[in-house]
Amino acid sequence: MFVSNKYRSMNKLVISNLSKTYSNGVKALNSISLNISEGMFGLLGPNGAGKSTLMRTIATLQEADEGSISFAGIDVLKDKDSVRKVLGYLPQEFGLYPKITAETLLNHLAVLKGITNKTERSELIKALLHKTNLYGDRKKNLGTYSGGMKQRFGIAQALLSDPRLLIVDEPTAGLDPNERNRFHNLLCELSENTVVILSTHIVDDVKELCADMAIINKGSVLLQGEPKKLIDELGGKIYKKSIERNEIEDYRANFEVISDRLLLGKPVIHIYAEIPPGNEFELVSAELEDVYFSKIHSS
Ligand code: ADP
Repeated sequence: MFVSNKYRSMNKLVISNLSKTYSNGVKALNSISLNISEGMFGLLGPNGAGKSTLMRTIATLQEADEGSISFAGIDVLKDKDSVRKVLGYLPQEFGLYPKITAETLLNHLAVLKGITNKTERSELIKALLHKTNLYGDRKKNLGTYSGGMKQRFGIAQALLSDPRLLIVDEPTAGLDPNERNRFHNLLCELSENTVVILSTHIVDDVKELCADMAIINKGSVLLQGEPKKLIDELGGKIYKKSIERNEIEDYRANFEVISDRLLLGKPVIHIYAEIPPGNEFELVSAELEDVYFSKIHSS
């Protein structure tokens, strides 16, 4: 019991006041602070929010200007070698050699990671191919893989070093619903005893997977918390209405419109209101989208 608790508390990622300004003057990270425990953590934000910059900095691929990151007692910004030993990273885009097989590439990568014992290596690769459901396709060239298979291969290579910190940057963009499901299940399985950070602009990915999350925009953390609690906090305050296209600006001027989307060609708006707004608005149960859009809207 004592040991397992100790282990649990060790795998903690603490980011404090992290800032980064690119040489062109863009402030990509503006004093970011986050506390991330084991399990699936969703980092949600629109394009340009600073997610990849943050992921690359945690993955030791990029320097920060200010602030600190620690993981399991390791000073991430200073002791890069130690982080790399416990890190698995699946970048937004990664090149694959199209003309070699998954099995061969994993074998090469395992050798590079220092797994020199042949039997140990082939057992590890077999286990990873099974885990990512690629065993049946292990002899196929990577160039023939679908988007989902490539992402699962990305996870297989990220798992070669049995990571305690796994970072996946925008992993489901371009996957069909089946592939996306399969990828989600795989991430869930991996998140036991591991900090898994899923960076995404897709609200549903976070809704379905993550026990903890943060929303970032323009380099700042807008909020951090459990999705369910954040949704509960909006209970009784989200209303919807179907309106005409030419009415949107009027509604924006008079109500706190947090989102609008087309339903069968007609805009449906969601508003935030502390007291019932009248005007034929209908109270709806809040969703994570409402949490997300209300925060982004007011940032
Ligand atoms: P996200 O992953 O959330 O889309 P990024 O971290 O990629 O956000 O980008 C954050 C901001 O920093 C954006 O305005 C982007 O244009 C800018 N940016 C990202 N990388 C660079 C870079 N290498 N040089 C200059 N600006 C960059």
